[in-house]
Amino acid sequence: MLPCVRVDRHTHLEGSLDAAWVRQRAQEEGLTPPRALEALWRNEAVPFEGFIRAFFFSCGFLRNAEAVTAAILAAVGRLPEAVPGLPRGIDMWVSPHFLVKQGQFLTLDALWRGIDDGIAQARSQGVRIAIIIDAVNHFGVDHGQEVLDLVLPDKPSWIIGFSTGGLEGVPFKAWAPVFERARQAGLRLAAHAGENGPAANVREAILDAGVERIVHGVRAASHPDILELLAARKIPVDICITSNRALVPDLGGHPLPALLRAGVRCALGTDDPGVIPCTLPGEWERAQSLGLTPAELEAVRAHSEADAWCLQLNDA
Ligand SMILES: [Zn+2]
Repeated sequence: MLPCVRVDRHTHLEGSLDAAWVRQRAQEEGLTPPRALEALWRNEAVPFEGFIRAFFFSCGFLRNAEAVTAAILAAVGRLPEAVPGLPRGIDMWVSPHFLVKQGQFLTLDALWRGIDDGIAQARSQGVRIAIIIDAVNHFGVDHGQEVLDLVLPDKPSWIIGFSTGGLEGVPFKAWAPVFERARQAGLRLAAHAGENGPAANVREAILDAGVERIVHGVRAASHPDILELLAARKIPVDICITSNRALVPDLGGHPLPALLRAGVRCALGTDDPGVIPCTLPGEWERAQSLGLTPAELEAVRAHSEADAWCLQLNDA
């Protein structure tokens, strides 16, 4: 058995609360989890819109700093066990504008305090965490600017990047000024692309919006020109096998082997493991079941650390 990957390269704070935790809170408040969330907890596939409903229900319980810290510690609990001397880490996406402004679940101060406490507790367990600010693609470009208006003025040091997520409805060309503003503010750039939108979104995110990292990108697997672009520019691609199986039902066999064989720097992530149950060791097992050679698996492990933003954060 090869040693497990030790960095969760893509997970969302909002999708991290454990199913049992959410079920308990819902029961206390007399709320019924949406059918899509129950289906996902049973490991069934749902349409992306159903996933969004499930996701919003779950993250609606992030109402104070303590809940935010609980979500971070749940993410830490989904990593493999500590081995002395070997780094563990999480690149965690957070949507502050959605939580604070749109959902009005909690204040920005409470969100930052909860994250700060979660990161400190994770650190005491030897786990490094970097935060990537997520804006919702389908909420549009003005929303993207508002996300930066909210975050940039008093940016905590553990925020390392800016990304778009959600439905890939608005072209990356339109998003380019938002990404440029984030870049000028010192943030690294990533995007969910080629997941619920076409493969061309991967190319446009890189060429039109200047992103240096792609989340999912699975639709690119059947497009040699896009694979070549990813490989030539050494763009890291975060692969979330369990999430892809749940949300990309027409995917067929998972394209991780095809991406790796094209020279793409793939690593593994859990995405929304409180909503779509999975762990990092479980994702590693799934990767192994895809028929990868030992050298390809070793490449995944090497990329997962070499390209991890949490291990590059200068906060020692
Ligand atoms: Zn994601």
